[in-house]
Amino acid sequence: MNYFSMPADFKTATIDAYDALNRRRSGGRVMETYGNITRNNTFESGRPVNLLPDVDLELLSQYIAYSAKRGIDFNYTLNASTLQNREFTPSGIADIQSFLARIHEAGVRNLTVTLPALMEIAVKSGYDFSIKVSTISQVTNAEKAAFYKRLGADRLVVDESINRDFRNLERIRRRFGEKVELIVNVVCYKNCVYRMPHYNQMSYDSVKLADQTSYDYFGHRCVLQRFASIANLMKLNWIRPEDLHYYNGIGIDRFKLQGRQAVVKGDPIRALEAYFSESYDGDLMELLDMFDPTTHFRIPMDNKKLDGFIAPFVKNDHFCRNDCQSCGYCETFARKVIDYPAAEELVAMAEDFFAEYDRFNGLLEKECRRDITGAKKLFAEEMVDADFEFPE
Ligand code: SF4
Repeated sequence: MNYFSMPADFKTATIDAYDALNRRRSGGRVMETYGNITRNNTFESGRPVNLLPDVDLELLSQYIAYSAKRGIDFNYTLNASTLQNREFTPSGIADIQSFLARIHEAGVRNLTVTLPALMEIAVKSGYDFSIKVSTISQVTNAEKAAFYKRLGADRLVVDESINRDFRNLERIRRRFGEKVELIVNVVCYKNCVYRMPHYNQMSYDSVKLADQTSYDYFGHRCVLQRFASIANLMKLNWIRPEDLHYYNGIGIDRFKLQGRQAVVKGDPIRALEAYFSESYDGDLMELLDMFDPTTHFRIPMDNKKLDGFIAPFVKNDHFCRNDCQSCGYCETFARKVIDYPAAEELVAMAEDFFAEYDRFNGLLEKECRRDITGAKKLFAEEMVDADFEFPE
């Protein structure tokens, strides 16, 4: 039996559909949904507010009660990567405690948390919260997993960048225990350098959207980084429905579908059915997006043609060395699955579009046009005593 954590859309009809799937006992079970309030919210999470369902505390409370009657838990996401240091001030701690009291009153018993200091506050609060470590905490090895266990966490979502490092996952599972979870529908490039700054941007924008420029910046660069090489689509560390059994083989049976932004317009039930039945016929990229495309620039990949791709990762210790130039495995496989001429055309269109419409590019163009003579003058006026030498 595999257990799934699903993004909440806060609709009773969706809970009914999950309940019906659970009753079929088809090899999978929805154990919980997860999310956070967006109205009168004062507490950051890991997703920008403009993408999330409109939810206040009262709706949350009703949703939790409705789900509980059908045997489905709810997990509240307090998984911001930054609280702007509020957690280190007396007033910040008081605010956090008051917020914890309010959501506990609404029925919340499970939290997903990123920051160690926030975990300490939640543990000390005295409420009976079960704490799950967020994937944003970037747990990539057994030592980090053990640290969070000592801190009081009893569940853990592993950093998705190690989804295909089976020996490492096995060690984490052994050290932390059975409640280790993996995200299956990963859409991020495994070696993305924007990952941490993007988490920070989403945390800042999770209560009130600060600015469209920062929001677009990461969205655009995410697509461009994927398209820097077409084979990067193989390196998003997704887990196909057909490959779940390999993870069962190392003792992992808990999985999470990400996409709190996708539940509003997508089809989480259809995505879940594919993972329950461990089979999916269609474009893998659509499944990963839960049938709500994150971009218009989409390169399809026939899921069934990906049979066997994961095998060398399972059989060989540390098969992926993160040095693609000297490996080439993903590129070779990608050429069997992807229509390269069509993909190259699409990549060119995406590059043109983002070059023209990216707000940050516009800002750079407007604000960074001072030549070095101008910069020298400004520097000389502001820092008369500085001894920095500008290069000629
Ligand atoms: S090192 Fe090899 S297996 Fe790893 S991502 Fe690069 S091409 Fe794929």
